[in-house]
Amino acid sequence: MTEATFTPATAAIRLTHWLDAAAAAGLQRFPVDVEQLALHVGKELKWPDPIFKVVAADIPSFEGGLFHVEDQGWALLYNRNITSEGRIRFTLAHELGHYLVHRLAQQEFQCSQADMVHRGPEMRSIEVEADDFASNLLMPMKQFRACTSTSEIDFDILSDASSKFGVSLTATALRWIRSTEQSAVLILSRDGFMDWAISSDKARANGAFYKTKGRVVELPPGSLAADETIASNRSGDPISLGTWFKHAHRDAVAREMKLVCENYGYTLTLLSLSNGDKVWEPKEWSNA
Ligand SMILES: [Zn+2]
Repeated sequence: MTEATFTPATAAIRLTHWLDAAAAAGLQRFPVDVEQLALHVGKELKWPDPIFKVVAADIPSFEGGLFHVEDQGWALLYNRNITSEGRIRFTLAHELGHYLVHRLAQQEFQCSQADMVHRGPEMRSIEVEADDFASNLLMPMKQFRACTSTSEIDFDILSDASSKFGVSLTATALRWIRSTEQSAVLILSRDGFMDWAISSDKARANGAFYKTKGRVVELPPGSLAADETIASNRSGDPISLGTWFKHAHRDAVAREMKLVCENYGYTLTLLSLSNGDKVWEPKEWSNA
């Protein structure tokens, strides 16, 4: 392959095959060593402009960046003030995604923290693509499902998976909510208000979603999330589904899990619903 680029999916598949082969030869498979991968991938692909260095740098307003340097290739930088290994790994993988998918379109990429996993679903498309690539590279679906396929998901299971794959719990939870066949909603909130809420495909089909883009959405009174006296509840407690969705059947019960992430000043909530529970307004439900 010469000047071609990849789609986010084909890039992750190609690298996953390499890493699987290296693991079969005895190298550690997880967490993925993204720095070594970035330094070798250009040569493997026989591209004329490899990534020639990966370095922590003083770039306070950016999480990471990728810069073309004439006659040398690309420099991959990440913010030296990031202390979380998981965030660094995701940042490097995100920039590697720009290299593999977008490098012919731009000479430089500067990615703020807001562009990365903490911003949630509303992003520019190349940022979405770089995040998708990073997620697929660091948590390949086959191995991810093997760790998280359970009838009762909770924050302990997601936390174990985040340790195995070496990524943040938030990135792990996003991977799960976007791939599960269960009905569930993941919410990131601060000071009693939702930053974003993402529903699994099943939950969305059942009407269980919140629209947060451009809106101020308060956490519902009576929820664990809204109760500041409760620190965290990793395995969750039953809660009337009507607390979260007013059109739910009055007997419907969900399980609400809560994790306060004090380092980052936000709270994660995971709502696990029964697959059969629909919460559309009655008029919409009859048409659904
Ligand atoms: Zn980016």
